[in-house]
Amino acid sequence: MKDYSEVFGYDELKDYIHKRIITKKVAHAILFVGDEGSGKRTIAKRFARTIQCETVEKKLDDNTAVPSDIEPCDKCHSCLQAISGNNPDIVVIDRLEGKRKITIDEIREKLINDVKVKPYACRFKVYIIIGAENLTVEAQNAILKTLEEPPEYVVIILLATTEKLILPTVLSRCEIVNIPPMPDDMVAEYFETHFGKDPDVTPEDIRFAEAFADGKIGRGSITFTNPDFRKLKRDVLEVVLNIEDLTLNEMMGYVRRADYYNELGIDYFFDLMMLWYRDLLLFESTRDVNGLLFKDYLTDISRQAQTLSYEGIDRITDAINKARERLHANVSFETVMELLFLTINESMKG
Ligand SMILES: [Zn+2]
Repeated sequence: MKDYSEVFGYDELKDYIHKRIITKKVAHAILFVGDEGSGKRTIAKRFARTIQCETVEKKLDDNTAVPSDIEPCDKCHSCLQAISGNNPDIVVIDRLEGKRKITIDEIREKLINDVKVKPYACRFKVYIIIGAENLTVEAQNAILKTLEEPPEYVVIILLATTEKLILPTVLSRCEIVNIPPMPDDMVAEYFETHFGKDPDVTPEDIRFAEAFADGKIGRGSITFTNPDFRKLKRDVLEVVLNIEDLTLNEMMGYVRRADYYNELGIDYFFDLMMLWYRDLLLFESTRDVNGLLFKDYLTDISRQAQTLSYEGIDRITDAINKARERLHANVSFETVMELLFLTINESMKG
């Protein structure tokens, strides 16, 4: 990674970070809000490394820093410690293993009591709270005082996918920075640089990852790094290719199995289905073969496109989105999937 623009994918955020650091106006509490996989962690860790970097600090003290200097040198003691995850002045707080929440006890130990200890060697003491939406209400209330009157050297960075679960009293004490999705060309470039050298990775894989990423590097990276992703993709293909011949039970078997793919789960199953129907729509409207993500299945795409109308595809994608919503609203798995299966089958009949 050369600089922030590569992490952020756009200049606004980079400018913001540079300006804050150059003018020495780093806020005591910053909340980064962005979707899962949008790069919040990478950004927060890099931000922490930058403000702790000895080389950056020296330039700031000499008043010689220009925006391009505001990048971690990755060579000084502080940077090296940070890279290896052992910088005592950068504290990462996450849920403890097996816990669904970040509890008040954990926050007391790692933050509230710890802020009293001055930095060991760096200018700041940085705390990164991963998944701030997982802080219990008690834990959030407990950090209020620290957020309000932090010691001069403290920078608290909260990361969250949504502001909704964070108390207004906490929000009002944070500088909120939104992390929007990255432009597609930058996403593709990132995958090319990071995964493209692997001889097993084809240009089609890169394009698939780009489409799946939807502007989120972390999400697209899963297609390369999570060994279960290929299994999931294969299962989704089994379903969409054979949907007219599958029994409800058979389809349920595939979908249930998606739940076993630990991190991936049912949302990814739906996302992959959507990509299949995106291909059908593209093929029907343009006959463009090169733009297809599932080019290897051209015969099937062309066959399904013959029976499925535009309206039919619309109905199916609507039904997938509804199924997703219903599952999140805790409607029974069987009911949701049965309805989806029926809608798809009816639409296939034209
Ligand atoms: Zn450095």
